[in-house]
Amino acid sequence: MSSMGEAIRTTCPYCGVGCGVKVTVDADGQAQVAGDESHPANYGRLCSKGAALGETLSLDDRLLYPEIAGRRATWDEALDAVAAGLRRVLTEYGPDAVAFYVSGQLLTEDYYVANKLMKGCFGSANIDTNSRLCMSSSVAGHQRAFGSDTVPGCYEDLEEADLVVLVGSNLAWCHPVLYQRILAARERRGGKPKLVVIDPRRTATCEAAETHLPLKPGSDTALFNGLLVHLYQQDRLNPEFLDQQVAGFWAAYQAAKAVAPNVPTVAVKTGLPESAIAEFYGLWGRTRKVVTVYSQGVNQSSYGSDKVNAIINCHLATGRIGQPGMGPFSVTGQPNAMGGREVGGLANQLAAHMDFAPEAVERVQRFWQAPAMATRPGLKAVELFQAVADGNIKALWIMGTNPLVSLPDADAARDALRRCPLVIVSDAVADTDTVRLAQIKLPALTWGEKDGTVTNSERRISRQRAFLPPPGEAQPDWWAMTQVARRLGFGALFPYESPAAIFREHAALSGFENTAYLPRPPAGEGWGEGGSRRDFDLSALADLTDDGYDALQPVQWPLPRSATTGAARLFGEGGFFTADGRAKCVAVGERTPAYAVDDSFPLMLNSGRIRDQWHTMTRTGKTARLTGHIPEPYVEIHPVDALACGVSENALARVHSRWGEVIVRVRTSADQQPGCVFAPMHWGSPLAPRGRVNAAVNPVVDPLSGQPELKHTPVRVQAYRPSWHGFLLCREAIEPPSVAYRVSVRERACWRYELAGEALIDNWPDWARTLFGDDPGWEWLEFADAGTGRYRGAALAEGRLHACLFVAPSHELPPRGWLAGLFTPAELGPVERACLLAGRPGQGQRDGGRIVCACFGVGLNTLTTAIRDQGLTTPEAIGATLKAGSNCGSCIPELRQLIAQG
Ligand code: SF4
Repeated sequence: MSSMGEAIRTTCPYCGVGCGVKVTVDADGQAQVAGDESHPANYGRLCSKGAALGETLSLDDRLLYPEIAGRRATWDEALDAVAAGLRRVLTEYGPDAVAFYVSGQLLTEDYYVANKLMKGCFGSANIDTNSRLCMSSSVAGHQRAFGSDTVPGCYEDLEEADLVVLVGSNLAWCHPVLYQRILAARERRGGKPKLVVIDPRRTATCEAAETHLPLKPGSDTALFNGLLVHLYQQDRLNPEFLDQQVAGFWAAYQAAKAVAPNVPTVAVKTGLPESAIAEFYGLWGRTRKVVTVYSQGVNQSSYGSDKVNAIINCHLATGRIGQPGMGPFSVTGQPNAMGGREVGGLANQLAAHMDFAPEAVERVQRFWQAPAMATRPGLKAVELFQAVADGNIKALWIMGTNPLVSLPDADAARDALRRCPLVIVSDAVADTDTVRLAQIKLPALTWGEKDGTVTNSERRISRQRAFLPPPGEAQPDWWAMTQVARRLGFGALFPYESPAAIFREHAALSGFENTAYLPRPPAGEGWGEGGSRRDFDLSALADLTDDGYDALQPVQWPLPRSATTGAARLFGEGGFFTADGRAKCVAVGERTPAYAVDDSFPLMLNSGRIRDQWHTMTRTGKTARLTGHIPEPYVEIHPVDALACGVSENALARVHSRWGEVIVRVRTSADQQPGCVFAPMHWGSPLAPRGRVNAAVNPVVDPLSGQPELKHTPVRVQAYRPSWHGFLLCREAIEPPSVAYRVSVRERACWRYELAGEALIDNWPDWARTLFGDDPGWEWLEFADAGTGRYRGAALAEGRLHACLFVAPSHELPPRGWLAGLFTPAELGPVERACLLAGRPGQGQRDGGRIVCACFGVGLNTLTTAIRDQGLTTPEAIGATLKAGSNCGSCIPELRQLIAQG
């Protein structure tokens, strides 16, 4: 924890870029957040989410005390109840009736303890993580190709490349600092690297790209199989590397040729013009320094592993791996997805990058002195919740994640949890869809309070350090699990009193009987007897003192005992972690999404993330700075499809699938391909009860990786026509009304509730008073027209706006921005009072419009007016005039779009 005024260096808790953050707590206890210029992930940059971290630290929504069956309990009572419940299920039903569902938000030390307890003491591998939903296909692809789950390169490769290909990645929104590093490198290097974006929809990432290839959803394997064929036929392979370091090329080539023999065939399968494909293949083939970055658009598929291997095949065949500026590069969604992979937090990994081979199980058993080792993989996320639904899992401990929003077929997951005899949830937040169904709630620490390590997408381990005291009775997750383990009789294995002690053990296990970094035999001669070769080795840190742990600087693994620095790259000279040391090209055949569109469900739903929100919004939903950009859940649809579906801009729509339904706002955009729609996955019931998009998403998984196909669900979009639409702004949070559609939005000086109802309200003035109260001292301004179903009412307390409600029979209502701004002044002036019920600014006043620049609160109307009237033609000119885009830079792609639109 910091003493006042001293800067603490920690890491951002959001995406897998893993930016370094400097935090100073001022005299008022407010945290000032800045990018850490010494951190190699970001060198001082932060995106909009990272920059707003200081505004997410309030305690108003926190779970601060343990609860059992809805009543406050002591920690002793809660831990006794957890231990008794787990013991009962273990005794009556055996180890596989118990499961942990954990999170890429956990620190490595939390993860390590959870994994050891489940796999070494319960004797089951039923521990899986929400990282399963994010990048497990990359894990499976890496393991097939390299014999290990290794990211071969580093962030500098993206700057040193001459060509960066982004596949299924909206890097500008989902990994903004990495995107900005690429753009900054282009400035320095005269336009290199060139940028090619492969994505069915035109995203913000495309704004700075030379080429956007809007392929048909799911046709990535055809495109990269075609590339492999092209590379062979155009003599672009690296015969020496292939011969000495790679196996399986010929089979992979034959498989690729069978499905993608030439450009015209690839054009039919991908829907891309032949000329665009030929140009891309030519560029890729003749550019030696190529990095292919891929993310959820590749991973979240029923054949995500094949997509990954189709990409890796091209890099292996050309030897473009592990050298500066070249290689396949998986970017992870979460801050510690990589740490989870390292400890074995996925159900199909054992620990420290070991699998369930008998010798690995025996080795880990000896290291842990474990009483009951898991001997086979456990259930992966989707099948784990299916086992809960089937009654085979009877006790589930969920830590730091909200699966009832993030899992596909989320309503089925909710039903499963309702039937589960014992649900324990460790969380920092008091109200989420998942916490609501917990019988035992354990208050956890969150960012700013946690202390431990995380690993980012380039294998870099960084410290997350506490700068705030634990609030209420919240405790670290590793502590809660350790206490339970001791109650279950495993105390000798869980002696930990600090995260440093856990980290030392984790590092020691990584190096235990690990021969990988000992002198190697020549390639192809095998690796001898005894021990095992494992990529993951941190044994240089196994004897770290507590002070050394506190001072630990960001470092990449591998870091074997002999090493003084980590390795930026692997595999440049081969040395893969297969039995013969050679990588494998994997034969990838014809693959398409599990469910095709049809007459009943004619549109393909792609679910994903937006710029300023993170996961299920438990942090980012707390600050108006981040909710202003996109305040409501939405479906984005091509204008032609919108017309066919009978929906229009800003109206409400039902999005149905075979699995469920949501009601969301409509955004029409030609950035969508006809036939495809996009919807963000962030909203849960506390903020938007009908906006949980994953309720409509199919639960099909990749059979190898277990990753669900979150990008491809056939849906139908239909107009939703409630009896009335409305919005309510109130200075304080209220108990929102139970109506057909409701979204709660944090504004800077008030709360906003977007509403729509099917049941007619008899008396709007009464309804308004029921919702935001009535005080004899308040002044009411009201307009009601019962004939047309319109009502506008505002309550003023001592001249200040307290609340207002606007209702109409259609969604055509005034913009909210100007009205929300009226909550800031101490008193409304005469012009504002006069315009209040019109809902629009009067003469001389401005409505800035929807927020585009989160850092400086610059709105769309302000920007478009300035671009038009002042002739601003570059983001730099906008920055100089309005400041927009001049801090974190996350909005620059949108600024470019606005400039292009004139
Ligand atoms: S890019 Fe943004 S969200 Fe990701 S780690 Fe950096 S600051 Fe955090």
